[in-house]
Amino acid sequence: MGFQLNEQGFDALLSELSREYVIYAPKCFAGGNTFTDVDCIRYGTVKCVRDIVFDRKSDYSFKEAFLPVSETLFYFTEGETREADAPRKKGAVIFLRSCDLHAVKRLDEMYLNNGPEDFYYRRLRENTKFILMGCSQSFENCFCVDMDSSRSDNYSLSVDRKGDYYYVDCRDESLHALLKNNAAGELAVEPEYVRENKVHVHIPDNLSIQAAKSTIWDEYDSRCIACGRCNFVCPTCTCFTMQDLFYSENGKAGERRRVHASCMVDGFTDVAGGGSCRRKNGERMRFKVLHKVYDFKQRNGYHMCVGCGRCDDVCPEYISFSNCVNRLGDAMEEVEKHEK
Ligand code: SF4
Ligand code: SF4
Repeated sequence: MGFQLNEQGFDALLSELSREYVIYAPKCFAGGNTFTDVDCIRYGTVKCVRDIVFDRKSDYSFKEAFLPVSETLFYFTEGETREADAPRKKGAVIFLRSCDLHAVKRLDEMYLNNGPEDFYYRRLRENTKFILMGCSQSFENCFCVDMDSSRSDNYSLSVDRKGDYYYVDCRDESLHALLKNNAAGELAVEPEYVRENKVHVHIPDNLSIQAAKSTIWDEYDSRCIACGRCNFVCPTCTCFTMQDLFYSENGKAGERRRVHASCMVDGFTDVAGGGSCRRKNGERMRFKVLHKVYDFKQRNGYHMCVGCGRCDDVCPEYISFSNCVNRLGDAMEEVEKHEK
């Protein structure tokens, strides 16, 4: 069911939703980027629709609003442990793009279906509604069309801003009445989506784990500086690390937290005895790229990467993930030639 809302109507909708939900959307943080005087578009809480940035891609994904970057799991004392309360008292409503909504499916796969269900993820996920922001144009570095993530229909609401009005498709019956009460009119609405990106990726059909033996990874030993920014902006990266915070000197009282982590930074693969599974930056790049477009698919039948292009946007060394993916054909040719 579709609705047309003016600004006042949309603000009233947000105000009603905020009784039960914290509302997160991409906002502009003036001068908040790494570079001087450059704005940062990232997630924050919003009260009115004017706060939401519709015409730019967010530098960071919805993930940092959905899942806390640092989350206390439990508290411990000498004789007992106590589960931490959920980080949010209310539910969450999150505005996001189609690629990011596809990323939610990847997060569900990792946290809910990849072994025993993750209790902490489940309690946040159950209480979250997603509002799809239609894309009327492709942004820089996006390759969602080739990754099959440019369209979504598993949203509660979709919203497209055109002129002074907001066009909303509602797929969540529990929100129908709320929309009806605040709408200026009813009409059929189909969310806008991108049909063509400037950037294309081709993942070779014969891609196999043999690509790991290619020399294409070597150049990243020197080009990549292992800053991990590509992981932190990625909506599908799910790695975390554990940190214990001790309240007492004897270490018997404290809390355990899990904190977002990066497979590209030093120390991530360190193991007992001074070993490390991937010391070179090229090896880390190889692991990241093949995880996103090869081994995740082997297990789940679809690629992990959703083509948002944020890793390309953010890399201080101008390393392009999509370009690297497009070299996998050469990588396969090289290893096959070598093995003949
Ligand atoms: S790997 Fe890059 S393009 Fe793919 S989902 Fe992650 S940030 Fe987006
Ligand atoms: S953002 Fe670029 S330099 Fe930093 S870890 Fe990722 S690929 Fe390497």
